Order: sequence, then structure tokens, then C-alpha cells
Amino acid sequence: MEIEIQPVTQPKAHIEDETKLVFGRQFTDRMFVMEYDSGKGWHSARIQPYAPFTLDPAALVLHYAQEIFEGLKAFRRQDGSIALFRPKDNIRRFNQSASRLCMPPVDEEFFLKALKELIRLESDWVPHSEGTSLYIRPTMIATEAVLGVKPSNKYLCYIILSPVGAYYKGGFKPVKIWIADEFIRSAPGGTGEVKCGGNYAASLLAAKEAAARGFDQVLWLDAVERKYVEEVGSMNICFLYDGKIVTSPLHGTILNGVTRRSILQLATEMGYDIEERAMSVNELLEGAESGRLTEAFGTGTAAVVSPVGQLTYKDRTVTIGNGQMGELTLKLYKALTGIQYGQQPDTHDWVVEI
Ligand code: PMP
Repeated sequence: MEIEIQPVTQPKAHIEDETKLVFGRQFTDRMFVMEYDSGKGWHSARIQPYAPFTLDPAALVLHYAQEIFEGLKAFRRQDGSIALFRPKDNIRRFNQSASRLCMPPVDEEFFLKALKELIRLESDWVPHSEGTSLYIRPTMIATEAVLGVKPSNKYLCYIILSPVGAYYKGGFKPVKIWIADEFIRSAPGGTGEVKCGGNYAASLLAAKEAAARGFDQVLWLDAVERKYVEEVGSMNICFLYDGKIVTSPLHGTILNGVTRRSILQLATEMGYDIEERAMSVNELLEGAESGRLTEAFGTGTAAVVSPVGQLTYKDRTVTIGNGQMGELTLKLYKALTGIQYGQQPDTHDWVVEI
């Protein structure tokens, strides 16, 4: 399929002071769009000026949330070039999400080509300062205008871009976590391993209650026993326990994070044993108290790693390590960002140059 390139007549002003870039607030001049009709397949691929869509109020996405998305980043490297980090993994996960929500797959090669072309055209939007990047948000929505719970016959797939500032501007700040004992994020057989908007809407109330109690994020437990750790906020979670890395297994209720996968591989190469196994709240709290648990961190595209300093379950609060960024957490952060920004050799073939 050809991609039509439309001109931009009114370019936006860039935020010159890159310390002022706020995640997800400013979008670039262009977006990629394609449309789907059953019978016709994907068509009308174009890179057009960034603009609002006109949607019928009956569009299925607005009622029954048939929607999926992805999140990845492009990095400005030391030599000025621009690179994507494991974009094929995100596109594959986009298609896995599509399949779970009865949405049509995209052609993975074509989608990567479209993404690269969009970033090439928007290359001056990729910020230069240390720790900054261009956040990429591929999205697919059901647009057929009909009420009734059924898979749509029409879809819109688009990619928007947002320049983002350094996540750790004022240094690493370990987060205070509230372990949710009432709300759950996902259940076996549900959509926990899918990146669909509905999961995030359902997580808002727990996050709001955690914030009202002075916590930064929620740690989610399994839906069946409310006992085992699943994820933290919208990140996967890893522990350094008895000197080994312990993380929840991918059993359908947690997102198969690209950062999680990359961090586990780097840690293996550093000589750490990895245990993908259930970790109970009790083991976690006791481990923090006894000193067997020395580090805990979330992993995700936005922060790369996010150190956990403190955990609260009901009325019990424990501090992890000394409540500061752990040594291994920092080492993994440096190893992964080093590859992303081109300061370390990419021996895994994770980087895709634009
Ligand atoms: N879990 C959830 C629920 C998420 O939303 C994300 C962010 N995409 C992650 C984990 C981390 O995934 P990734 O490393 O691919 O960003």
C-alpha cells in the first residue's frame, strides 16, 4: 500500500526549552492514518497534518471501548541519528491486542515502514537533551456507527507523536506504593495482557484512592487469591530477592512488557538468576523486613525503571533497602538507556535506525 504524504501548511512552534517538555501534552505536526472496511481491508494510508477526527456519536469505540494502543519511543543518539527501540516487539503486541479484541491485524512490515517514514518527516521534533525522547502512540479504534455489542466493520488506525522531557529530571525518586487489596486490574481470561483502553479506565479509581492517601502508585494483586503480586501502576515489577531477580510470570493477566523482557535479558547477561514466579504479599513484606528483599523496581517504556522505596499493605508499611535507588536498579537503567541512546553497543539488535 502506498502512503500519501500530505503537506503541512501551519507548522506548530516547538518548545525550545526542553526542560519544559511535559509527557503527552504536545503533539507534532503530522500523524499517520489508515482506514479499514471489512471487504476492502486497510486503505487510504496517509501522513497528514495532525488534526482532530470527526467521529459519529454512535461509533462503536465510544460505547463498547473496542480500542487498543501501543507506546514506544524514538531516541536522538550521540551522533545525531534517530533510533527506535525494539519497535517490532510493539507492533507484534499491537496485533496480539487486536486479535483479543476482534480487531483486524496490521501488516507488521508495512506498519514499521509507515512509522519510520512518519518519524523521518518529524525528525526535528525529536528532542536533543539528555534523557529526552519522542513518544510514539499507535492506536486503533472501532468507527462503525451502530449501537450493539459486536466487532466493528470499520476501524481507524493512527500514530501520533509527542516529544517528552527527561523522566528523571531531579534525580531518581523512589516511589511509595499502596498494595491494592480491594480493586484488581485484571482477571484470568480477561484482557490483562492486552493494551486496551478499558484496562486503564478500570484502574483509575484505585489510583485515585492511593493518591488521596499520599501514595504514588498502586501495586496490583492477582484477582483470584488477592495474594500474589502482578504489576505496579502501568509497569511490570521486578524484585531483587536473595540476590536473584524475581518477577511475575506472564500468565495472561499482566502485560508482556518490552522493557521487562529487555531488563531480564541484560540482568541474565550480568550473571543474575531470574525467577519468573508468583511472589506473595507476605513474602514481599517479610523480605523487606528481614533484608532478603533488597531492591524493587517497576519497568516500562516511560521511566525505563522506577525504584520502589516503600510498600504499604492495609496498615503495614515496609521500606525496601534504605528507601533509595538500588545499585542493581541503577546499573540496569544505565545499561538499557546506554543502548537506547547509542552510548553502548547494541549487541542484541534491539535498535532500529530511522
Ligand atoms: N504493564 C502495563 C499495564 C503497562 O501499561 C505498561 C506500559 N506499556 C507496561 C506494563 C510496561 O510495558 P513496556 O515495557 O512495553 O512499556
